[in-house]
Amino acid sequence: EISCFDKQKVKILLVEDNKTNQKVAQLILRRLGYQIEIADNGQLAIEAIEAKPYDIVLMDIQMPELDGLEATRRIHQRWPPGQRPYIVAMTAHALRGDREKCLAAGMDDYVAKPIRPEELAAALGRWREKVEHSETYID
Ligand code: MN
Repeated sequence: EISCFDKQKVKILLVEDNKTNQKVAQLILRRLGYQIEIADNGQLAIEAIEAKPYDIVLMDIQMPELDGLEATRRIHQRWPPGQRPYIVAMTAHALRGDREKCLAAGMDDYVAKPIRPEELAAALGRWREKVEHSETYID
């Protein structure tokens, strides 16, 4: 466990169109010690990131207006590495190749739905490890 990070200070944006899934994810993250903000689709997520920076985006795939794969591509076009959030896909798709599709779109990590707290905690832990080793974070 990395203890030097204040979990309350990690800025997390949950991008999910389903209200029930929003509530479940929020509850899991709260229990893990994180606070989140929510965007209902990919378009609103991009607007939220334009308004202020986030450390982590938890991204659903199937959403109205703008889906998770296209939203991720646009985030990559808009913000250079080091200035864009770490993007974790959340997908119910059990199809082979889905992980590859998410990674090809520019997502950094992947958790399966329904979300298991230990899996989400591990993905967030990987992000923290990544930030710890990046030089830009020191500023
Ligand atoms: Mn969805």
